Amino acid sequence: MTYFRATDPFPLESADHTKLHEFYARLGQGTLATTKCAGCGTAAWPPRGFCPECGADTFDWVELSAEGTVHAFTVQETGLPAGFEGPRVFAIVKVDGHRVFSILVDADPVKLAVGQKVRLAPLRVADDPKGNARWLPAFRPA
Ligand SMILES: [Zn+2]
Repeated sequence: MTYFRATDPFPLESADHTKLHEFYARLGQGTLATTKCAGCGTAAWPPRGFCPECGADTFDWVELSAEGTVHAFTVQETGLPAGFEGPRVFAIVKVDGHRVFSILVDADPVKLAVGQKVRLAPLRVADDPKGNARWLPAFRPA
């Protein structure tokens, strides 16, 4: 199994593997969410199991907007992991003041621009070793 894990480019998203499982479950339902500290109320990005501001380890889930703007982007044309078709566009998308590192799908690199509006489009990737669906944050031009 070690060999397969070494070639699996996706996170293990199940509740057995991460206390942030809820993030991926909500993403699979079409919602971008993050953690909000129950101690001081700080909303973190990326979601965190503890608060870097006050050290508390209790949190609530809050929904973020499904719309954002492109803050920066880059295009990868070669060296993509197996199963990915190029060119691949990666971007930092501003969502509710957070900077979300994400994939942009259906984005023509030539027409893409900083400041462009994008909409959440969660990307289903390869199932985990137990056959559970896995999702990554992704956006597409709005
Ligand atoms: Zn806190």
